[in-house]
Amino acid sequence: MFKKIIAVTTVALTMTVLTGCSIIMPELDEPHDGYTPPPSTTVMPDDTAGWGWEEGVHGFFNGEGNSNLEEATASGDVGAVESWWLNNTTEQPPITDNVQLVPFTANADALTWLKTQKDVDPNVQIFLTNDPAYNCAYSSPDQLIAGCYLPKYSNTIFLWWNASTTEDQRQYMLLHEYSHYIQWHDTFDLQWSMVDAKVGSGGDSLNQDMELDASCRVFNTWGYSALRATDPGRAEDCDAAGWSESWLTAKVNEAGITVQDW
Ligand SMILES: [Zn+2]
Repeated sequence: MFKKIIAVTTVALTMTVLTGCSIIMPELDEPHDGYTPPPSTTVMPDDTAGWGWEEGVHGFFNGEGNSNLEEATASGDVGAVESWWLNNTTEQPPITDNVQLVPFTANADALTWLKTQKDVDPNVQIFLTNDPAYNCAYSSPDQLIAGCYLPKYSNTIFLWWNASTTEDQRQYMLLHEYSHYIQWHDTFDLQWSMVDAKVGSGGDSLNQDMELDASCRVFNTWGYSALRATDPGRAEDCDAAGWSESWLTAKVNEAGITVQDW
């Protein structure tokens, strides 16, 4: 029996001063890949500049918990792997806020702002960090902004931004990461079917589709149309793709991957 599936996977979005977005997709025995766009003269990512990939440092599926994951997988029980994920990934990351940043908005920090948005999971937490192992991309003060959702820490979003960012850029980055959070929490089976098939990492097309899906949810499903201007390339791609909430599932199916009830 398949669960109703709507969305997608793990990820991170980063922008260099120049800008960029990155994404991370876990694989069973390999580090995740993060993604950072090349420098450009624009403030936000520019699709015409092309995208590149960089290695992330996560190891979600290594170390403790793997034997339990193997047991859950071997059991073949419906929902066993999803239960494993939910029960083994709410641990606190080995870091907390470690940087002082300019205010997220004039009136609210990032978490306070996010929780005032519609239908946000009250369990979500946000850590501000310049540690590239957690924010997926931060590597120099020249970077504009970085964000990351690591499924190893299912309730956590990692963010970092520099003083040159605009409020819209900070909101877009946070909502994009929260979109990944939702992809995992609401459509785990779709995410895990990609993990199981060992796709959706590095620069493969499904990973790019997963990223686009995350941004399209922000622009379309959640109605932040004003933020389309912060990432016009992806906004246009959402339109061109005829995006809907079932769009990523269709892309996964087209790739020959059967979405199972994990
Ligand atoms: Zn992303």
